Amino acid sequence: YYRRSWSSESSDSVISSESGSNCYRVVLIGEHGVGKSSLANIFAGVHDSIDSDCEVLGEDTYERTLMVDGESATIILLDMWDNKRGGEWIRDHCMQVGDAYLIVYSITDRASFEKASELRIQLRRARQKEDIPIILVGNKSDLVRCREVSVTEGRACAVVFDCKFIETSAAVQHNVKELFEGIVRQVRLRRDSKEK
Ligand code: GDP
Ligand code: MG
Repeated sequence: YYRRSWSSESSDSVISSESGSNCYRVVLIGEHGVGKSSLANIFAGVHDSIDSDCEVLGEDTYERTLMVDGESATIILLDMWDNKRGGEWIRDHCMQVGDAYLIVYSITDRASFEKASELRIQLRRARQKEDIPIILVGNKSDLVRCREVSVTEGRACAVVFDCKFIETSAAVQHNVKELFEGIVRQVRLRRDSKEK
């Protein structure tokens, strides 16, 4: 039962078969309830009935190919951070396997914003010396009247994190496409600077 829901086997095989490496493993991390799965569902195209070329590799792994700046990129999105069955092992695994990370907090929940800083530190520790693309994501931007974290604070935090920043709303699907395009661009920037 456990193995079936844990889908790293299938995503591993996808990655190795696409060694041309326009294929990136992107990991969603952040406090429970901030909207990670909602963002993943939009990515997976659960909401668009016509265009559903997303392959669900497991209950918490999704694969989709996007066109970004005229070049296609395949994202394998991992949404297993809150998976209780795996315990701490899953989180350690998540910290190791990502080519890029989306650190998500809710703009309506200051504690989740503070948690994001902790996660940034953990990630830095787990992947020392690696320049990993990260986007800090302030989700639930539609809930304007419940806002606890300002845009300015979010942006300032991203400067400290040395990463990109975006506010999204999974509920009204604002900036979600831009988020996934953004992470592809971040991975490419690093790839291109390595080639030079
Ligand atoms: P996860 O625990 O991080 O995976 O968070 P979920 O995706 O399960 O979302 C937690 C709750 O927040 C659910 O009730 C969602 O419907 C709600 N939610 C997620 N994203 C948004 C958003 O952008 N706006 C609003 N208003 N609610 C959201
Ligand atoms: Mg979830």
